[in-house]
Amino acid sequence: MFLLIIIILGLCLGSFLNAFVYRLHENTKIKSRTRKLSITRGRSICPSCKHVLGPMDLVPVLSWILLRGKCRYCHKPISIQYPLVELLTCVLFIASYLYWPLQLNGFGIIGLIAWLIVLLGLIALSIYDFRWMELPNKVVFPLIYLYSVYLVYIAIFYHAFHHALLSFLAGLILFVLFYAIFQLSQAKWIGGGDVKLVFLLGLLSGSPVMAFLLVFIASLLGTGYALILYPMKGKLMHTKIPFGPFLILATITVVLFGAKLLSWYSGLLG
Ligand SMILES: [Zn+2]
Repeated sequence: MFLLIIIILGLCLGSFLNAFVYRLHENTKIKSRTRKLSITRGRSICPSCKHVLGPMDLVPVLSWILLRGKCRYCHKPISIQYPLVELLTCVLFIASYLYWPLQLNGFGIIGLIAWLIVLLGLIALSIYDFRWMELPNKVVFPLIYLYSVYLVYIAIFYHAFHHALLSFLAGLILFVLFYAIFQLSQAKWIGGGDVKLVFLLGLLSGSPVMAFLLVFIASLLGTGYALILYPMKGKLMHTKIPFGPFLILATITVVLFGAKLLSWYSGLLG
């Protein structure tokens, strides 16, 4: 029963994320304040013909399949990004619920809720970075604020002072590390957005050990992606690859499976 709620919530919030990212990017193009699209209010529209969408056009995934990926009104193709993001959000919500490392009592549930909220922001950042090679401060900063408040809250009310301290330390270490890489490579290897993002990801990882595991996994994922892309595009040196989505995917892995990975690894060593 609870799983069903998670599935529906994931699909609907994924649908909301599509609209959120679209409006966020549209707003960066509009200079005058009066014409800005509201991020949270207002009806959803078709990105091509701007027709207001009805309830039948807004059912996550199903609408896209039934309309065969085309707008009902102007018949222009609708990007596969829309159903993919809805499915991805749903899958990540299910995985977070099923593989949540803590017991789902008071403390564990608060942690899961905080994580799911931040996870939505992380998915939005991944879409944004993939499409426009940018990690907007407007998303990164509120997430850092939100998660910091959560860490302070559990430190005070759940005596999780040690956990909060290690989390801030992890964030700081990643921030310093990435700032150094950013400066040394003169912003060629990573962007300024990545430097701010890794502070948040360090906080989420929970400890310096997990933070290093996170960077290791992200590097593997990024390299793997580049190797797959290489024969397809054949001009790797000129193809810019956003690093943000790989850092985020690595963070999700570490948050859900980090402890298992570490114990498996130490088991290998005997
Ligand atoms: Zn249309």
